[in-house]
Amino acid sequence: MADRDGVIWMDGEFVPWREAKVHVLTHTLHYGLGVFEGVRAYNTISGPAIFRLREHTRRLFGSAKILGMHMPFSQDEINQACIDCVRENALKSAYIRPMCYYGAEGMGLRAENLRTHVSVSAWEWGAYLGEENMQRGIRIRTSSYTRHHVNVTMCRAKANGHYINSMLALQEAVACGYDEALLLDVDGFVAEGSGENFFIVYDGIIFTPELASALAGVTRDAVITLAQEAGYEVREKRITRDEVYTADEAFFTGTAAEVTPIREVDNREIGVGRRGPVTEHLQRLFFDQVEGRRDAHPQWLVAVH
Ligand code: PMP
Repeated sequence: MADRDGVIWMDGEFVPWREAKVHVLTHTLHYGLGVFEGVRAYNTISGPAIFRLREHTRRLFGSAKILGMHMPFSQDEINQACIDCVRENALKSAYIRPMCYYGAEGMGLRAENLRTHVSVSAWEWGAYLGEENMQRGIRIRTSSYTRHHVNVTMCRAKANGHYINSMLALQEAVACGYDEALLLDVDGFVAEGSGENFFIVYDGIIFTPELASALAGVTRDAVITLAQEAGYEVREKRITRDEVYTADEAFFTGTAAEVTPIREVDNREIGVGRRGPVTEHLQRLFFDQVEGRRDAHPQWLVAVH
């Protein structure tokens, strides 16, 4: 990943990809206190455009505020850095990774002179959970790892250190032969995937967990809006495992995962064991939206050129 052509935006200027390096004493590398985003640009019919860039940048700044990190740039400057990064790398579609981290100015938990550094990288990235799974659906398993509790860490923040929990759950699921993990909260209710929000469909109604342990996904918000506009009822509520097993459909949402159908949970087929009609409908609305084929929500797409 590090050995390739292209440029990465670091603290206000572009540096060649291979030279975009940090010191081994980078504070965030040691303690995990940093925040980041995952954003996608799509090759729309009017050229490359970044999906819900402002909302992602706003969440990034919210994450930094929650962790008490001072941001040396404005939201407008980070938005522009994301746009420039896609353009400078001549990407038509891209995954964009803004990240804010503490540098090597000090060591130890009590370091006082830390500075927040910001980088923005962008690269081409296809379907996160595999192209054929977007139709067929994935197999997931309830994780033995519990999702963060709101008073153990700050779940609204998309923080680097939070992803230890995600990685443990994902590694376990993959080692057991599944595509992804489903994490429960401390009370045993469904929270989310390792990097996705979770939905079920029952009797035509769409249910998703309330935002307590789960990240406030930008895709989750977009899909809820699209579903409601299409006439579906969407309810946020605590969801139990047995409700998942007996649902008609289940799917994940996320910037990387987009809208990914789930065909099996804990070796039980969900519905008829393949992508359901509501999931397919929402996928179509989602891809029509992000690829610029809908007139609604033009503010969701920020043109690169
Ligand atoms: N939950 C977690 C833990 C995530 O990492 C992500 C990906 N950012 C999501 C949910 C989905 O969020 P979004 O739709 O904003 O990408």
